[in-house]
Amino acid sequence: MKGKAVITGAGGFIGGHLVQYLKSQGFSDIRAVDQKPLDDWYQLHPNVENLVMDVQGIDACQFVCKDAEVVYNLAADMGGMGFIENNKALCMLSVLINTHMLMAARDRGVKQFFYASSACVYNGEKQTDSANPGLKEVDAYPAMPEDGYGWEKLFSERMCRHFREDFGIHTRYARYHNVYGPHGTWDGGREKAPAAICRKVIQAKMSGKLEIDIWGDGEQTRSFMYVDDCTFGTHKILNSDILEAINLGSDEMVSINQLVSIAEDIAGVKLKRNYQLDAPKGVRGRNSDNTLIKELLGWAPSISLRNGLEKTYAWIHDEIKAGKSEKSMRPLANAYA
Ligand code: NAD
Repeated sequence: MKGKAVITGAGGFIGGHLVQYLKSQGFSDIRAVDQKPLDDWYQLHPNVENLVMDVQGIDACQFVCKDAEVVYNLAADMGGMGFIENNKALCMLSVLINTHMLMAARDRGVKQFFYASSACVYNGEKQTDSANPGLKEVDAYPAMPEDGYGWEKLFSERMCRHFREDFGIHTRYARYHNVYGPHGTWDGGREKAPAAICRKVIQAKMSGKLEIDIWGDGEQTRSFMYVDDCTFGTHKILNSDILEAINLGSDEMVSINQLVSIAEDIAGVKLKRNYQLDAPKGVRGRNSDNTLIKELLGWAPSISLRNGLEKTYAWIHDEIKAGKSEKSMRPLANAYA
């Protein structure tokens, strides 16, 4: 028997997959928490305590952490580049979530605490070249992270570190690099590049209008981690003796144009590309340097973009065909109503 595991943000993309993964690892006592109504959760797992609760406030966090042995804190107000560039205050407010979750975890005697950080903590000056050799963990300092979202992540990493140093809590935190897969956001303004590109390619194919809008010139680079690598790596890092921030991402770097080509290939179409140079595009080049994770864990994400994108494409295709509109299309203001 394993103790109670709490996952915040469990109605979201990665949280929903993490609940499934922990169940497969023998966790039978799981409390899944999200502020969204249950109908809007991407995955609702049976035999789990599914709790609708806003964990920005300390009282809610105290409630959520009661009797918990392990906490995975994934709740955050976030989205793709279009969302984080235009909602910096909302992104920064997630600092309340991690701060209060840490305080409650300390007060409730939680044994292990995981925080989902991001590649957006990295110094922007190290990401000006599309031929990025890979960001090493030390590249977060001197600090110049993504405005809003990245600052919140960097601050919260430090909170985890100081709670470990000062209060002896077993905190671990990983810097996720672009995670993608089925059961995530694919429409509505918060979606990230892989889901957005799949959606656009599917819609172009279905409508017969064989064109695609691409944000920027398409030569900006990224790496994309399939969600199964993310859940496996998250659990592994929490149970490791890695005390400092570590990259959790793929090092298979592609340009957005290459990502579009893979999606086109899966769909069996060729589209005319319309480049939207004024759209949000984020940093010029970003990749994960996996030297440290390989050294410390003897493992690194390895699911290929082609394989992962095929599964993602198939799921989004089914969603669109079934006429489902994106659940995250609820008005943003409601998130804090
Ligand atoms: P997501 O938006 O699908 O899930 C986050 C969930 O948190 C949402 O369901 C949302 O309703 C919930 N939430 C937000 N505020 C809350 C609150 N106050 N109380 C309770 N629930 C709240 O995002 P995701 O892609 O699953 O990301 C999970 C975590 O991983 C986040 O912390 C995110 O910043 C981090 N991350 C994700 C990526 C990625 O590529 N997806 C990259 C880097 C870091």
